[in-house]
Amino acid sequence: MDHFVHLREKLSRCCPSLELRIQEPMARHTSFRIGGPAALMALPRTEEEAVAAVKTAAELDIEPFFMGNGSNLLVADEGVDRFLIKTVPGLETCRLQGQEIWADSGVPLARLAVFARDRGLSGLEFAHGIPGSLGGAVTMNAGAYDGEMAQVVRSVTCLTARGAVETVTDCGFGYRRSCFSDGKRLILGVKLALKPGDTEEIRSKMEELSARRHDKQPLEYPSAGSMFKRPEGYYAAALIDQCGLKGLTVGGAQVSEKHAGFVVNRGGATCRDVLELVEQVRTRVLAQTGVELEMEVRVLK
Ligand SMILES: Cc1cc2nc3c(=O)[nH]c(=O)nc-3n(C[C@H](O)[C@H](O)[C@H](O)COP(=O)(O)OP(=O)(O)OC[C@H]3O[C@@H](n4cnc5c(N)ncnc54)[C@H](O)[C@@H]3O)c2cc1C
Repeated sequence: MDHFVHLREKLSRCCPSLELRIQEPMARHTSFRIGGPAALMALPRTEEEAVAAVKTAAELDIEPFFMGNGSNLLVADEGVDRFLIKTVPGLETCRLQGQEIWADSGVPLARLAVFARDRGLSGLEFAHGIPGSLGGAVTMNAGAYDGEMAQVVRSVTCLTARGAVETVTDCGFGYRRSCFSDGKRLILGVKLALKPGDTEEIRSKMEELSARRHDKQPLEYPSAGSMFKRPEGYYAAALIDQCGLKGLTVGGAQVSEKHAGFVVNRGGATCRDVLELVEQVRTRVLAQTGVELEMEVRVLK
């Protein structure tokens, strides 16, 4: 605990403008609305503040955890003894450079997609309904409806663990992963290469995808989206449904009755409830279909 007090004091001296929160309840920062307090959280509003946060932590041998909008995170009920650096809502500018967009990592994907649409740039229609930040989406190589971040990312500017600025063009994208998935670098900003398109066509594509989402997904309950990765050759939701697990409940956590790939918080769900439910689903799907499900949602303990 002492090292966080030391970190806080050091940061307050070297970067007084940096917003710091102590024992910050993580249920406020995750789309699941689950999670106890984080020991210390920094919310940088500029690159300089982000550099100060990362460098000072490195000087004290503290490994930070980086987060965006918390829409793919499940945080422990007892909280986490970690230093969190959160890009949302502080780092959020976007600008046009020719046909490329440069955007800060904390920009919500929905806003970025609208920014592109309004400038007649196509390629982010798939991302409009994903409730994450740009940094989280690049880390996860977020995707939907045949689109994924790998298709539009030209380069990423990030901070190394020691706070040096680096530009990465080969992001090692794979299915729901990238070279940033190891949590060692903080994504600061992203250059996106898009194609010219018709604003009205882009708008109607977004509306069509949004309608499909509202039709298929339980957006009325807190969740972290798809709980499991797509196993090769299968769909997680179809396997779970086939095993008769829709509606399976542990405490406040439930396998959605609308979309079996989602675990939803029906009210008061704990991290323990969700993990117990996930274990039951994995065990039953393995026993009945022989397929092993792997979690897509990141657990922070
Ligand atoms: C209703 C709903 C629907 C969803 N639909 C989809 C979908 O269609 N497709 C899809 O792929 N996902 C979907 N998701 C999951 C989630 O929105 C995505 O994974 C999103 O990209 C996560 O972004 P985030 O900013 O919330 O990241 P977080 O949840 O904050 O973090 C996710 C991971 O990224 C890392 N990270 C975040 N920001 C940074 C940064 N700046 N630098 C370095 N690392 C960082 C974190 O350490 C963590 O490992 C959905 C979630 C919900 C709740």
